Amino acid sequence: MKEDLLHNLEAILTRIKNACEKTGRNPSEVKLLLATKTVDPERIKIALQAGQTLIAENKVQEVKEKYEALKDTPHTSHFIGHLQTNKIKEILRYGISCVESVDRLDLAEKLQQRLEFEDKTIEVFIQVNTSDEESKFGVHPSEAIALVKKVAALPRLKIKGLMTIGLFSAETEEVRKCFQLLRKIQQDIIALNLPNVEMNELSMGMSGDLETAIEEGATIVRVGTAIFGQRIYPDSYYWNEGKQA
Ligand SMILES: *Cc1c(COP(=O)(O)O)cnc(C)c1O
Repeated sequence: MKEDLLHNLEAILTRIKNACEKTGRNPSEVKLLLATKTVDPERIKIALQAGQTLIAENKVQEVKEKYEALKDTPHTSHFIGHLQTNKIKEILRYGISCVESVDRLDLAEKLQQRLEFEDKTIEVFIQVNTSDEESKFGVHPSEAIALVKKVAALPRLKIKGLMTIGLFSAETEEVRKCFQLLRKIQQDIIALNLPNVEMNELSMGMSGDLETAIEEGATIVRVGTAIFGQRIYPDSYYWNEGKQA
């Protein structure tokens, strides 16, 4: 089990390196984020002890359950799932440094309120629904810039970039369009030169499409299955909870 995991991890690092080489990028520009939903803390620790530093969960419940077991192993935690406003307090309690899934003003405002109260700040990415699939969360591409402008006015939230889940398709060129769209939105935002907005990060690409994402400028690729193996829950359980598929 442990050997499999380490072997898978090596294979992913090689894929990242190869994709970078192919496009003339420096592998140090691309961070690997471990998507650890359903993975138990012992296995997450194996990856951390092998030198990985960035992990992320989709559900506050899982963040909470694994917190104690992981807190003494150095790492950074992001949140990449749909965040309900009634879970904000908890997310702040369990050491999440960045919410990659900010997709609506209501959530951003409630985060601001709570952070103000606790005298803290948090990093955020704006999640964009680049595949235009009803079942996915994320702000519509046409509304992304307006949302960034509004979130920028909330001083406790530090915008660092954009996140997307690409289209589920075996057609690489269709998936690529999602990543190109995210990059286009990033460039448009950079051109606006907004105060309190950094746009260095593009979190895009997963087990099946990380090469395409790196070719299109990803700075963070989020990988679960290819490292930890298949999950028992379908992704819809994590991605469109409370939404009509
Ligand atoms: C699960 C998940 C991933 C990783 O997906 P894999 O296909 O398992 O690599 C990436 N991003 C988000 C938002 C996820 O929920």
